[in-house]
Amino acid sequence: MRRIAFLSEHANPLAARGGADAGGQNVYISELCQQLAQRGYQIDVFTRRDTPDGPEIVNWLPGIRVISIQAGPTAVCPKDSIWPFMHEFMMGILAFLTRERCQYELIHSNFWMSGWVAVELKRRLALPVAHIFHAMGKTKQRNQGALDSSPAERLEIEQYVINGVDRIIAQCPEEQRELIEDYGTPAHKVAVIPSAVNSTIFSPVDRQQARQTIGVDGDDFIIVYVGRLLPRKDVRNVVRGVAQLVEHVRHDTQHMYPSIKLLIVGGETDVPSPSHTPEIAVLQKIADDLHIGDALRFIGKRQQEMLRYYYSAGNVVVTTPWYEPFGLTPLEGMACGRPVIGSAVGGITYTIADGITGFHVPPKEPAALARKLFQLFQQPSLAIQMGHAARQRVEQLFSWPITALRTGELYNEVLSETQVSQTSQSINTNSKKEF
Ligand code: UDP
Repeated sequence: MRRIAFLSEHANPLAARGGADAGGQNVYISELCQQLAQRGYQIDVFTRRDTPDGPEIVNWLPGIRVISIQAGPTAVCPKDSIWPFMHEFMMGILAFLTRERCQYELIHSNFWMSGWVAVELKRRLALPVAHIFHAMGKTKQRNQGALDSSPAERLEIEQYVINGVDRIIAQCPEEQRELIEDYGTPAHKVAVIPSAVNSTIFSPVDRQQARQTIGVDGDDFIIVYVGRLLPRKDVRNVVRGVAQLVEHVRHDTQHMYPSIKLLIVGGETDVPSPSHTPEIAVLQKIADDLHIGDALRFIGKRQQEMLRYYYSAGNVVVTTPWYEPFGLTPLEGMACGRPVIGSAVGGITYTIADGITGFHVPPKEPAALARKLFQLFQQPSLAIQMGHAARQRVEQLFSWPITALRTGELYNEVLSETQVSQTSQSINTNSKKEF
């Protein structure tokens, strides 16, 4: 049995997803920990306490505890504001380990801030560290420019983490390239282990049944977006693309056409509220200005268990972010047997097989998106064929059991290297003593 400490300062596996700072990282930790626990690992997930109530230790599932460490205010804070509390987070973990007499064989840290905490713990406890960034600061800065609210220290700390940890997990070849070329990480330190999708939770539902379940019209051509409503996700581009699709369809006078709808799932609250999620108002204004105000349906955020009905209600799933470190939502749409159109960036170039399970389109180009949407609108049989191919692709390549297996292999590699280096250090010390 191996005992692993997961560090994840802002992303708690127990948190609801869809809001500003709860997305793919939460899902990664939740799914991976469950798979590892089923393989006999004992896991403690350390996260920053963001509420004054509730227990310090939650025995979440057999083999998995979630431990909240007080660091900074016991309130939800934007993740870009919590870097100053990371020293306290690290000291809190150390105090917990001493008090509870916990011992681990390895730390698996998530995101750059927990990477720093892991390196500091490694220095004090001599534990090996496997790290995953989930997103790289340089890419974020390049793509977000003035909108990037990361602390100024981020890039320097990322370099410190790269130097200090034993292995770095890249979620796709593009992230591996960034780590090696943009950050100068030695290639042997980087292991590509793609994230995955839970193909039981995300499975195809008959389209009409899905539509009935979520209460949308049976005959519409429905485009689905699921995810956080952040500027970089560029749902604005999707709205503009849909407006151009509507134009294409109007000019295509040969057909009686169904009406076109865009379902937008995500946001801060279950009931969509522009005051809690201002992006909703921005998107609605863009749609109104483009005369497709009626086409938008804001759903609010939904639990993962419900999402298969939203994906399955769609004729096509769309995501056109400026950049995407990996992107779980395209895989979820694929697992639900729907074609997915996604920006040709980051992990999306790896998950969607262009022309087979959906299409790649350039980001920030609504016209390109509209052309692909129109193609699927005109060729429903192609959309169905792509949806089948998409489901097959995730079953073959993107399952959490495979991700967990490969992560376990990585742990074994790191642990055996650590043992070899400890043995050779003790041989050196002993041989020095002899002289
Ligand atoms: N998500 C959710 N409910 C919502 C909106 C999103 O559970 O209302 C989940 C979604 O299913 C996916 C995750 O949030 O698993 C988003 O992950 P992704 O990697 O696509 O993007 P991120 O948010 O990490 O940038």
